[in-house]
Amino acid sequence: MRPLPLLLSAVSATLFSPVFAADKAAPPPYTLTEVWSPIPPVVAAPASGLPSDAIVLFDGKNLDEWEPAVPGGHPWKIEDGAMAVIPTAAPARPTDQRTKRAFGDVQLHLEFRTPAEVKGKGQERGNSGVFFMGLYELQILDSTDNPTYVNGQSGSVYKEHAPLVNASRGPGAWETFDVVFIAPRFAPDGKLASPARMTAFQNGVLVQHDVALTGPTPNGPTYNQPKLPPYEAHAAKLPLLLQDHRNPVSFRNIWVRELNFPEAK
Ligand code: MG
Repeated sequence: MRPLPLLLSAVSATLFSPVFAADKAAPPPYTLTEVWSPIPPVVAAPASGLPSDAIVLFDGKNLDEWEPAVPGGHPWKIEDGAMAVIPTAAPARPTDQRTKRAFGDVQLHLEFRTPAEVKGKGQERGNSGVFFMGLYELQILDSTDNPTYVNGQSGSVYKEHAPLVNASRGPGAWETFDVVFIAPRFAPDGKLASPARMTAFQNGVLVQHDVALTGPTPNGPTYNQPKLPPYEAHAAKLPLLLQDHRNPVSFRNIWVRELNFPEAK
């Protein structure tokens, strides 16, 4: 350690130096563009592991964070550390799974796998999906050598926005989605104040860039219609939902970070 007298003399030399006096009188102009607060909170981001503020929704062990989204529906199965759709044949009702927690703005990571055995074509091959707020679907499909409408292929915001590219890895391969979803905002009178927005990476490749959603993506009663459904005011937070489209799609390593932007644009 530096001897105390030396330290004191160094401090006094600094305090009374002409440079310090000039700094006090007129800060250098470049400091006017410096912002020192609020200080961003620390989030640990280990090289192998989750961000420290992530909410784990599935880690391969149990379905505690999930419930069937339809009354009387069955849970999915856990197989080799993945949660998997148990396909049912019509007329039995498919069973989507939804989170017990509700979310608004989120960063989502999940991994999915379409079936290795290629069966069906178009929308009947490896179909599932991630429904933010249970209403806004980022499509999952086996989109390798499987022609369909482009705004319904893997990585599309279903029937609203085709993906920028087809970044699919193919049947039986694990793939990733990393998504920023901004919830829509509604005015007190129920009118839309700002639309839902989505940015998505499939397998690290940008497939959706800050697209504005026109409303909920068609599904269930709104599916068989000539027009896409309009927005209807809803809660600020709603469960995340994974789709059962009667195809044995699997999921693993699902987590979210709540973002809670004060206002969307
Ligand atoms: Mg789907």
